[in-house]
Amino acid sequence: MAIIKVMDELLANKIAAGEVVERCASVVKELVENSIDAGSTEIKVELKDSGTREIKVIDNGKGMDEADAVLAFSRHATSKIDDEDDLYRLQTLGFRGEALASISAVSKIDLKTCAGDIGTHVVINGGKICKVSKGDARKGTVITVSELFYNTPARLKHMKSLYTELANITDYINKLSLSRPDIRFTLKNNDGVLLSTDGSGNVLKVIKSIYGSDVARKMIKIEGENADYEISGYISLPEVHRSSRNNMVTIVNGRVVRNTEINRVVNDAYHSYKPDNRYPITVLAITTDPSVIDVNIHPTKMDVKFSKMDTLLDLVKELIVSSISHRNLIPKVEVAIEKPKYEEITLNLNNDLSFENVNSENFKPEIEDEIVVNDFYSEDETDYDEVKEDEIYEEKSEELMPQMYPVGLVHGTYIICQNEKGMYIIDQHAAKERCNYEKFKEEMGKPNIVSTPLLFPITIELSNNEFIILKENMHILTDMKFLIEPFGINSVIVKEHPAWLPKDFVEDSIRKIIEIVIATEKNFDIEKFNEKVATRMSCKKAIKANTNITLEEMEALINDLRKCKNPFNCPHGRPTTIFYSNYDMEKLFKRSGFDVIK
Ligand code: ZN
Ligand code: ZN
Repeated sequence: MAIIKVMDELLANKIAAGEVVERCASVVKELVENSIDAGSTEIKVELKDSGTREIKVIDNGKGMDEADAVLAFSRHATSKIDDEDDLYRLQTLGFRGEALASISAVSKIDLKTCAGDIGTHVVINGGKICKVSKGDARKGTVITVSELFYNTPARLKHMKSLYTELANITDYINKLSLSRPDIRFTLKNNDGVLLSTDGSGNVLKVIKSIYGSDVARKMIKIEGENADYEISGYISLPEVHRSSRNNMVTIVNGRVVRNTEINRVVNDAYHSYKPDNRYPITVLAITTDPSVIDVNIHPTKMDVKFSKMDTLLDLVKELIVSSISHRNLIPKVEVAIEKPKYEEITLNLNNDLSFENVNSENFKPEIEDEIVVNDFYSEDETDYDEVKEDEIYEEKSEELMPQMYPVGLVHGTYIICQNEKGMYIIDQHAAKERCNYEKFKEEMGKPNIVSTPLLFPITIELSNNEFIILKENMHILTDMKFLIEPFGINSVIVKEHPAWLPKDFVEDSIRKIIEIVIATEKNFDIEKFNEKVATRMSCKKAIKANTNITLEEMEALINDLRKCKNPFNCPHGRPTTIFYSNYDMEKLFKRSGFDVIK
């Protein structure tokens, strides 16, 4: 019996409306999803000229018999969807048949497939079946799509540069392999291997194949669940970050989806551990009852909504915060013995298949998105050390920051410290900034802030426009225990201020605070405001670079820093401390044979 069923007309039209073959990546996506549906455990994608010349997908799936192989290219065929309800279930991956028909109409296809003893060979040019014959009895399917859009020159022109086409495909296969670590994927372009996973089911190994060993070693495993959701995955240490959110991958019930709210919560959980415009690398696999999910059923967009979003976001946040907040996060300066084999290149990405949600209200659209892929590395990885889950990163310890002893100061800026493990370099300004910041945040967060009267009230002149906005939003300041009143034309007078305001910077701080209130207006958010003010004041109050302090002052600063909730970064996300282990220093000075000391 034919596996592929002929769909209900209405359903077919529904899908056809949204389904367009746009570029090489959409073809790859379609073919690869067919391979997955066929139960393949190994899928090879081989491109010529980024797929513009040829896309070949080789799988070891269950294959098709002759009848199915021919029917697969007819317009209303699909093997997966029986009724409309299925459309709203996440278990279904794609839309076979429908898209295959579209692809065959604008390319030349050569299909070799075998479901059992007898193989079938089908050749289709521009949608017309040219040949159906017996083929090899190799189990699985080899489908070659060449000269995409050869008969539609207008569409051909819309193809992006080879670079962009390749970036899109790589991005898609990277994410797919993260969601299906149990499948062995190979991606090649003109004989260069771009990705090769082992199909062992180990997500960390896939991460290593995509980002390289250095990143894989700095990934932290997370796992947890609540009544509705189960989450497992990996998040990068805060020191590992990228310029794009594209490396934050969310997988729901085995399928890569995009959801800006999850991305936002993930990114917020890293707040102040990394610079604001940088994003972590994360892979979160969420498992839940399909009835909790609502999928926007556009085949190229994988937006997903959850009916119990709050509990999901809470769980995500809790897992990330708890796994980064109890660690020694001092970046270790590693001494490389050999040149890394993985060369990272940055590609521009601007496409539908990027799971980045660029249309969300929460984020400003990023027109030119960046992804990082590994270009070209050899398949032979035997000399590249294995990443084992338990040696990924240092164990959690009671103390966040180890005890260390200052030995001197460089350029009035960097404190050199030591302990039995090695040498630490502390950025004096960043460290002080962090200590100040946590103090301010604590003060500002107290429920009953007292206000301090000003001996000499401060008058602040504003533009007429600013004055109107401030007058409207005066309550924000009075709530914060400012005593502030309009004073003359376009001016305000401040008579009292909250006690946490640093004495030496009262006027400066008040001006800045008013500026922020005016700038944020209706979107005023006390949390974010406190954040901004605390960051700014902590910087103002911190020791500047090029200031010589005594050994005692250094000691006091280190002690304060060690008491911080996050001693590792300044409020702007810069590191406060870096670390050279004894071993790495020995390597640097070639004091010991590289292989003698472990
Ligand atoms: Zn600063
Ligand atoms: Zn800073």
